[in-house]
Amino acid sequence: MRIVFLGPPGAGKGTQADIISKRYGIRKISTGDILRNEMENNTELGKLAKEYVKKGELVPDEIMVKIIENNIKNLESFILDGFPRTINQAIELDKITHIDKVIHIKVPDEEIKRRLINRGRIDDKLDVIENRIKVYREQTQPLIEYYKNKGILYEVEGVGSIEEITKRIESTLKS
Ligand code: AMP
Repeated sequence: MRIVFLGPPGAGKGTQADIISKRYGIRKISTGDILRNEMENNTELGKLAKEYVKKGELVPDEIMVKIIENNIKNLESFILDGFPRTINQAIELDKITHIDKVIHIKVPDEEIKRRLINRGRIDDKLDVIENRIKVYREQTQPLIEYYKNKGILYEVEGVGSIEEITKRIESTLKS
């Protein structure tokens, strides 16, 4: 199965994608993790990405699409965590592969901010957090409508214990 996890920063996409990935033996591909790895290794891509990531901006679509193309090549199943983040990325993704299900993890704004402040990543400072939420609203949220129109969107409440949320996700995967 080819799955996309969608949701605001701090929704728990990464945590849930990890659990589902291990439980079902489906490869998880996190564009945020890929970029952080490149930044740690100070590669050309890492240096470029850092300029965007540290401000809470999106890395240009062209670069992200190439990364995804290289990472999902020949995979029958995968979970995408953090991609697509723009309509353009979604359109390009549809040219590369067929997505079966999109799981939208819903979390209210105040809860998101509280979670991110407690996480402490380099892009988890308050002003950057606020920008990431704004960027999410403007550029990523339209994907909800995009996938709803395709009939593959599944909504999951993202507030509760980790295991409760995993159960909700599992029931959408079985439906
Ligand atoms: P994440 O770990 O998914 O929250 O991603 C951390 C940061 O990496 C984001 O705030 C963006 O700057 C960048 N990033 C990750 N995935 C994408 C993507 N699909 N498109 C553009 N930028 C991305």
